[in-house]
Amino acid sequence: MQALQLTAPGVLKLRDVEVPEIGPRDLLLRVGAAGICHSDLHVLHAPTRMRAEPMTLGHEVAGTIEALGSDVSSLRAGERGLVYLCWSCGECRECVSGNENVCIAAGRTAMPPCPGLGPDGGMAEFIRIPASSFVPIDDLDFAQAAPLADAALTSYHAVDGAREHLGPGSTAVVIGVGGLGHVAVQILRAVSATRVIAVDTSRDKLDLAARCGADLGLLSRPEAAAQILDLTEGRGADAVFDFVGIDATARMAVESVAPNGAYRMVGLGGGVPGVTADPAGGPGWPWGASVRKSYAGRKSDLLASIALARAGKLRIEVEEHALADGVDALGRLERGLVSGRAVLLP
Ligand code: NAD
Ligand code: ZN
Ligand code: ZN
Repeated sequence: MQALQLTAPGVLKLRDVEVPEIGPRDLLLRVGAAGICHSDLHVLHAPTRMRAEPMTLGHEVAGTIEALGSDVSSLRAGERGLVYLCWSCGECRECVSGNENVCIAAGRTAMPPCPGLGPDGGMAEFIRIPASSFVPIDDLDFAQAAPLADAALTSYHAVDGAREHLGPGSTAVVIGVGGLGHVAVQILRAVSATRVIAVDTSRDKLDLAARCGADLGLLSRPEAAAQILDLTEGRGADAVFDFVGIDATARMAVESVAPNGAYRMVGLGGGVPGVTADPAGGPGWPWGASVRKSYAGRKSDLLASIALARAGKLRIEVEEHALADGVDALGRLERGLVSGRAVLLP
């Protein structure tokens, strides 16, 4: 089969490889679509080698069950679904509490095994998955469904964890209206009455935010924090969702979050918010505000995301590419040319 593989740091190749073998509790999934996440670019450019190379990329995967392991009796060949990307232990305290995204089996600051970030991912014709990670999608289109596995899951989890800040009269800021951000705007719209302010460096992305239901759009500049304060009578935003996570956006969040507000770091840009323990609350940091580093989501967040999509309340803006054009498609994402999410179709 064909697979888009990371063969060395910075090197991505379409290669002919064997169809994966499956174990007794696994499924072989025929891939219908695989989304391209900005994290794939972080992985591609990571200076250190991944655990396994060559490794097939792709952690946003939807497809059809092709074959089942001998111990799997609850599923049937031909069923359509997507892959829950936290391949957690299922037994630790966090897993049994439903917090599979912070499963501690991998370590306190690590993340559970994830396809395309260790085990082979879904930018291929087939993928091996644990049967427990298969989540049915019924008749949802594969290209719409695949991005639910991360772009929606991760956004839903970040929003759900800040729900107490999103009541009527509140203001939420979404920084970075890409694959995740354009979904986050729609989720905020669907689950809350909050006013949504979108922030991006690109006017096209602000147009996308408006199409997704954002109330206002601001260009990402040093003045944006002051603009957010003006728009909230000096109080600041009740929740700031940062889908970029670089120093500039972390500073914007610190300077624009309200007292008792929520700053949620989702983007993996390595930014430092610089919260200090000064008596005045630190440089720009108001009393009571909290920071949370948000990783992926619970399986229940994935079910909620699928339900929103099936109800027509969440529509991914999708750009489709053939798997064979995967290297070019990743290049388009890197150059900021993708509107919404790019997906690869084998
Ligand atoms: P994307 O490339 O699709 O979107 C990024 C968006 O940010 C683009 O619209 C871009 O124009 C905008 N942007 C860039 N610089 C900006 C700035 N300074 N100010 C405002 N906007 C700016 O990326 P994506 O796939 O949506 O991923 C976003 C981030 O989230 C990445 O860092 C990715 O690695 C990370 N991520 C984290 C998790 C998690 O679990 N924490 C999960 C998935 C993705
Ligand atoms: Zn991702
Ligand atoms: Zn666990």
